[in-house]
Amino acid sequence: MKYQEIKGDLFEINPEKWVLAHCISADVTESKNMNKGIAKIFRKKYPQMAGKISPKLKKGKAIRYQNGNLIIYNLVPKEKVWQKAKGDYKKKYYLQLKDSLIDMKEKMIRNNEQNLVMPRIASGLDGGNWKEIRQIIQRVFNDTDIEIQIRYIEDSIEIGNATYSIEKAKSGRSKCRSCGEKIVNNSLRLKESIPTQNFTQNKYYCKQCAIKKLKGMREGVEELLGKLNE
Ligand SMILES: [Zn+2]
Repeated sequence: MKYQEIKGDLFEINPEKWVLAHCISADVTESKNMNKGIAKIFRKKYPQMAGKISPKLKKGKAIRYQNGNLIIYNLVPKEKVWQKAKGDYKKKYYLQLKDSLIDMKEKMIRNNEQNLVMPRIASGLDGGNWKEIRQIIQRVFNDTDIEIQIRYIEDSIEIGNATYSIEKAKSGRSKCRSCGEKIVNNSLRLKESIPTQNFTQNKYYCKQCAIKKLKGMREGVEELLGKLNE
């Protein structure tokens, strides 16, 4: 396995070389459930594929779609669109994700496909911890010659055990871990995600405290600071 993560547009790849993959849920229907996140981009870009995905997919499988040169694997790590890789469902989600990756691997080998490009699957809207998901991917593909490229758009960085990203507060309810003040809805905040045994703990920092905190950290925080200062 050759493995690489780069910042870039998933859809700029040459389909003659690369196959694409992303995650959907087993209850997917064209309009209802591919309407968020990366699945939505796939639906808009390849509407002919969305129309062909069966509404009764099996979880733990990878649904292969081909149209000319273009090959897309739809991984099915969960039953329902609303389920997240968190809390009680996390373990099951991870197992089903692993099974769907194994299914994809076997199909890729059968079809002599060598190069796979994916977003940071399962970790965006589905809420999984990217460091853990990455491990699952690497373990599954470790015994192959397949080249994997992960392309991401979001600017998150990893320092030690934690992942940091800048986002807009989704409600007015979160409290800043530094100053204790409530973070205003829709304002920029720093999210610090730390995986624990069963779930990912998220801590938030208001803009001012985030700038202070990031400046106190050693390296690689420029992009995040840039986002806060936009
Ligand atoms: Zn604060």
